[in-house]
Amino acid sequence: MELTYKKQNVYASADEKERKRIFDYCEGYKKFLDCGKTERECVAETVAMVEKAGYKPYTLGAKIDKGAKLYYNNRGKSLFLLRAGTADIAKTGVRILVAHVDSPRLDLKQVPLYEKSNMAYLKTHYYGGIKKYQWLTIPLALHGVVVLSSGKTVAVNIGEDETDPVFYITDLLPHLSQDLNKKTIGEGFEAENLNILVGGMPVAGEDKNAVKLGVLKLLNEKYGMIEEDFLSAEIQAVPAVKARDVGLDRSLLAAYGHDDSVCAYPEITATLETETDKTVLTILADKEEIGSEGNTGMQCVIIDDLLNEIAKSYGVNPAVLREKSMCLSADVTAAYDPDFASAFEENNVGLVGYGVTMNKFTGARGKSGSNDASAEYVGYLRGVFNKAGVIWQTGELGRVDLGGGGTVAKYIAKNNIDTVDMGVPVLSMHAPYELVSKADVYSAHKAFSAFIK
Ligand code: MN
Ligand code: MN
Repeated sequence: MELTYKKQNVYASADEKERKRIFDYCEGYKKFLDCGKTERECVAETVAMVEKAGYKPYTLGAKIDKGAKLYYNNRGKSLFLLRAGTADIAKTGVRILVAHVDSPRLDLKQVPLYEKSNMAYLKTHYYGGIKKYQWLTIPLALHGVVVLSSGKTVAVNIGEDETDPVFYITDLLPHLSQDLNKKTIGEGFEAENLNILVGGMPVAGEDKNAVKLGVLKLLNEKYGMIEEDFLSAEIQAVPAVKARDVGLDRSLLAAYGHDDSVCAYPEITATLETETDKTVLTILADKEEIGSEGNTGMQCVIIDDLLNEIAKSYGVNPAVLREKSMCLSADVTAAYDPDFASAFEENNVGLVGYGVTMNKFTGARGKSGSNDASAEYVGYLRGVFNKAGVIWQTGELGRVDLGGGGTVAKYIAKNNIDTVDMGVPVLSMHAPYELVSKADVYSAHKAFSAFIK
């Protein structure tokens, strides 16, 4: 009997075949990342994936037949996949996997376009927790939708194609940064200075706002839009970078939006590939980065409505269904970074390459705002993962007094559903280009699969 506990490195435990499976799996993930940089794009991409697998759209109120594979598309921004199982739902409940598909970024303001010093800019309002300086001097792409005055919605996507132009936020040269360097990072980089450069060529024959006019002309040609159409638009600036292997051994993967596509993708693949007789509800949520608010965030009653529809269709008491249901709140956690060692407590943090990481609790200071899963539920899951041969670990975000964070876990748990956080550890979380180990991504897929089996 092993008396001591030691974390296991996924790569060290993997043979050649398993390493190939890890790498092959992440090729699919890279495609998902490059096509889905916003919640709308992730939802559209997932709908295409599941339709290929035979999933059909669900309308509220319709009966759910045993064996059905359905999806409920909530306003194009959040998605619910439902596999209606044949097992006795009054005993097994619903297995719920939930990840979010919104990521920190710069949203355009409603009246964004202006001209200054013969250059045209777009004003932004950042979305989610960012370190502002990280968004300067990197190539940016614009993604989103514009609802024109005609009522027609057009999709915007500029900066991803190799031949597209990109956009840019400037920084001050080091030669003149003596004053700036004395300021704190918070003081030195202000949100109102996160203005995106979008043009520098005046329209001939115009002397006022000639550059802005040039930009408007181009937008009109491409999208049929006028300046007022920005009022009814949702346009996001995201890094114009593709997912790339990192390291000579290619063991790591850098991308924009790992938080939380790195959990959403394994959730989807586990749902599509796992044979199970259980009823599975797989959720891609929006607005997690801003508190899960609104009708596409996890605080919306839609999950309740769907659980009620399932209970009604199966003829079981909805209260019993909830009580028997279980959830993995699949969200990223911080990975231990030796260059910032003092921010972490080494025994209780996700280590890169040591598998998908369970956070029994999140929150700040004295676990404030945390779901804190029960020992019984963690014990049950521990058995499930160990039996399935999943290499997994536990962790906390970081040192207790340094800060904290939350996830959607508490919004699921309050429905009387056992819930725990489990996700991939990420280096440089919330940076424009985040880093994970491919081994941990595949470990998440295996864990989620074992959970719904
Ligand atoms: Mn997250
Ligand atoms: Mn986040």
